[in-house]
Amino acid sequence: MSKADKIELNSRKYALQNAVQFDGKANVKAVTGKVIAALSKEDISPKEIIPIVESIVKKINKLSLEEQVAELTKIAPELLHKEKKERDFSLPSLSNAEKGKVVTRFPPEPNGYLHIGHAKAAIVDYEYAKMYDGKFILRFDDTNPENAELEFYDAQKKDLRWLGIEWDEEYNTSDHLEKHYKFAEQLLKQNDAYICKCPPEKIKNGRFKGKECSCRNVSSDENINDWKDMFSRSVDGVVLRLKGDMACVNTAMRDPTLFRIINKSHPLHGDKYHVWPTYDFAGAIEDSISGVTHPFRTKEYELRDECYFRLLELLGLRKPYLMEFARLSIDGMPVSKRKIKPLIDKGLVLGYDDIRLPTLMGLKKRGILPEAIKNFVISQGISKVESNVTFGLVEAANRKIIDPLAKRYFFVKNPIKLMVENAPSLKKTINLHPTDEKLGNRTIKTSNNFFISKEDIKEIKIGDVFRLKDLYNVKLKEKNKVVYAKYVSDELISDSAKIQWTTDNYIKMNVFIPDFLIKNDKYNLNSLTNVEGFAEEAVSRIKTGEIVQFERFGFVRIENKNGKLIGFFSHK
Ligand code: ATP
Ligand code: MG
Repeated sequence: MSKADKIELNSRKYALQNAVQFDGKANVKAVTGKVIAALSKEDISPKEIIPIVESIVKKINKLSLEEQVAELTKIAPELLHKEKKERDFSLPSLSNAEKGKVVTRFPPEPNGYLHIGHAKAAIVDYEYAKMYDGKFILRFDDTNPENAELEFYDAQKKDLRWLGIEWDEEYNTSDHLEKHYKFAEQLLKQNDAYICKCPPEKIKNGRFKGKECSCRNVSSDENINDWKDMFSRSVDGVVLRLKGDMACVNTAMRDPTLFRIINKSHPLHGDKYHVWPTYDFAGAIEDSISGVTHPFRTKEYELRDECYFRLLELLGLRKPYLMEFARLSIDGMPVSKRKIKPLIDKGLVLGYDDIRLPTLMGLKKRGILPEAIKNFVISQGISKVESNVTFGLVEAANRKIIDPLAKRYFFVKNPIKLMVENAPSLKKTINLHPTDEKLGNRTIKTSNNFFISKEDIKEIKIGDVFRLKDLYNVKLKEKNKVVYAKYVSDELISDSAKIQWTTDNYIKMNVFIPDFLIKNDKYNLNSLTNVEGFAEEAVSRIKTGEIVQFERFGFVRIENKNGKLIGFFSHK
């Protein structure tokens, strides 16, 4: 083969491959790079290669995607499937970690459904336990009966299982209350804690001013009596506080509250208890006594770390290796139960599985796969730098997984009738995927009646020729309440518009499109759009849960309830 032939053949191969990978448009630079690399041993200078690549890319970009696929299949079928650049989806190694000895935990409060922020924490905890052949504990931090609700224990487990997370051990912090009381007594005996009878305002004020109150200077015996009284139900509004340092620059050390009285029934224990530990106390104690070696917390707790270690020190308990990462925030989305709950209560969203929410249920309904969430979380890593990320990163992770798998169908939004003069009656078989014929095909029977989208036809002028995608070319004759066109030819015309269509055997369906719930710090009233359109008939055989691509519209997760079809827009 001559030098010129070699350049020509390689240019064609890589231009076709690049075009097929990028929606029919090859990029000169990308192709040049490939060709130079392929011919690196041939003593051919880039100067000879570049002009040939340029001219070939130009030619190939004029072909339709179908023609490009056909041509590539002929000359280099091995390039048809994207080279998978396996990205290294793994977390950095842990400090102070030994194989077989790492214990992590995920400690949700059962007060709502899990969201993508919890997924970050749970995935990081779970992956590290796996990486070190360690143990992963699911612990329900349910020591605030004001918040805990029965339905959420199971709901959160279901959410975690959907993510593909399994745990080696599970327990409820509320089952350990008796132990917590013993530790509290130890602190009182050691004079490291005291019962404070001041009203909440006074406590707050004291902390603000760095001033101690008189409750602090009571004997240990008296404190123990007062502690016992706390359990008698005749006493209310009394708390147990750590003897920290009321003048400490770290305000979290200004005698933090460790126990308080909450007179509310607990979903698991009913009215058995009413003295409950705070997060400062329960979190530290549980991490230590359950054997956790590497507990992760979000960075907002940083100031409370001092209290965590002080408590363990005073109680003579083992100190875990506390780890921190940034809380996940996504632009325009409420990634916090505290922000989601009011939206539910005020009826501003349709429920916890609303497709606008970052809840796992919402993401699932929208067609975001658990593997995509995992890849996203791991690619974000465990940096402490707080930042808002865009939801586009989650979408990109999802697209990467579903693009090679999602079947393509026609969906026509805002349909208008099209009548084609001289239309041949056809039974046309069309592949369900542009590059993977293993995904199958469907056969559509056509007559002279079609539906196309009003938006598409707006762009086309009378006399223009356009293509009914995968079918044939027609010439536009008239646009009114009905669009009239005339059959012209079958072969592809490279630069004509190609539009999706249905026959009059269509399925009516609605697709819900989510937008950001929060815009400029305000609730976005127009965050959910309901688009009505016609889908081709084959869509009626799709089962609930399948994610497909409606061509030139986007990826859509289908729900099919006895033939009634609804779509939820995942992303472009
Ligand atoms: P929320 O505001 O959603 O209630 P939370 O931290 O109070 O947040 P918990 O159920 O107490 O919710 O959290 C369980 C675990 O999930 C904790 O370890 C917490 O740090 C982690 N977590 C919660 N939200 C996020 C987030 N947005 N990003 C990262 N981790 C999170
Ligand atoms: Mg919480």
